[in-house]
Amino acid sequence: MNENICAISTALGIGAISIVRCSGPDVIAIVDRIFSGKNLNEVPSHTIHYGYIVDNGEKIDEVLVSVMRAPKTFTKEDIVEINCHGGITTTNKVLEILLLNGCRLADPGEFTKKAFLNGRIDLVEAESINDLIESETEESRKYAMNRLEGNLSQLIVKDRQKILELQAKLEVNYDYPEYDAPDMTHELVRSELSEIKRDLSDLLKNAQNGRLLKNGIDVALVGRPNVGKSSILNHLLDENRAIVTDVAGTTRDIIEGKISISGIHINLIDTAGIRKTDDVVEKIGVDKSLEVLKNADLIIYVLSNNDELTAEDITQLTAIKNVKKIVFINKCDLEDKIDLDKLDGEIIVRGNTVSPEGLDPLKAKIAELFNFSEIKSKNYNYLSNAREISLVRQAVQAIDSALTGVEEEIPLEMISVDIKSAFDSLGDILGVTYKDELLDELFSKFCLGK
Ligand code: GDP
Repeated sequence: MNENICAISTALGIGAISIVRCSGPDVIAIVDRIFSGKNLNEVPSHTIHYGYIVDNGEKIDEVLVSVMRAPKTFTKEDIVEINCHGGITTTNKVLEILLLNGCRLADPGEFTKKAFLNGRIDLVEAESINDLIESETEESRKYAMNRLEGNLSQLIVKDRQKILELQAKLEVNYDYPEYDAPDMTHELVRSELSEIKRDLSDLLKNAQNGRLLKNGIDVALVGRPNVGKSSILNHLLDENRAIVTDVAGTTRDIIEGKISISGIHINLIDTAGIRKTDDVVEKIGVDKSLEVLKNADLIIYVLSNNDELTAEDITQLTAIKNVKKIVFINKCDLEDKIDLDKLDGEIIVRGNTVSPEGLDPLKAKIAELFNFSEIKSKNYNYLSNAREISLVRQAVQAIDSALTGVEEEIPLEMISVDIKSAFDSLGDILGVTYKDELLDELFSKFCLGK
């Protein structure tokens, strides 16, 4: 924790400036040794200084150096940021000189890890920094920012506080019966626990929304050849000026691209035809398609309005009967030949790819199925990842177990074991307690210099 770390915090490439950041107890002295301007050891905190980075008498770059002294910094340690000229060679040279003068290269996410370990932010906020950096849509940015501001953390802290108060009241009751504290009855415990459970269950109920805002939804386009799957993909992508990529593999492989509907990401995947084949190459495509179907949040099964339904369509639709899907009848600009009666019970949307607004009904249906308007009208206080969801689940299970104890009127002293367990699970979300491996795993996903 007391090491002096440094890293290039901006993207390494050609640009006007690059920032090399250092954090640790000696970074001001280290940078001062290689800086030709003022004596940085004597400058006030949160000031910026002009000068040169110098190595063995050679001027390496003309820079501006920001000096921020602990504790009012991101890591709560001394931080120095060197604003050098952009470009790979100069930036790398400045980094190299820092390494020769006593800094160590930071691990990915190590600045944020220090911020967490020094109590500047909790684990939810730390993770949201990465989400903010990686956000690709306006909605995912707003969502990450809301978490970074600590709004979700405050909800968790509030429920944790309620549990703590309940636990304290119980302990006073059974440890100090002689005190004049109000009697805790099973009924009182039940009512307080039920209220906390309601809050946590709400978080779990809406957790899907967090994943949706952060990662978007995976939508697979499925259907027989020639019904218009690629045209739909291109129509949607073209409109959104997104990039179509050939996923490495064969030409019969999966094509995918990203669009956004109402600010929410849709990862579109055009699958290769799913049918039995002896062709080895095609089989790879088919196997991948099946994998995509298994993991997709939504399947758009495409049919042509201009063709009759085939036995193959019915077989495929039956195979994906219980999957969330829309049956999209494409080519509605052409004569109706399809018999929709055979599609009883399916969500059917009609449209085409020849008119500019031909896919609007499809987009509207996707937004409706996933409640986009409701998600965005809320306050963005959603759990965002599997770690948080599983810990809230554990807390709810512990509360359920306590509530069962209450129903069975077992001694309150025994019930408090479950209550303590719920308190600990909520603490784990914030990182009140943690294992080193967990931190290594979380922060390894960060970029260097963050
Ligand atoms: P895929 O094999 O399912 O990917 O189908 P394609 O996207 O390659 O389309 C097959 C053919 O149908 C192409 O000639 C398209 O131009 C045509 N097509 C696609 N969508 C429509 C539509 O809405 N109306 C009409 N009239 N033709 C379409």
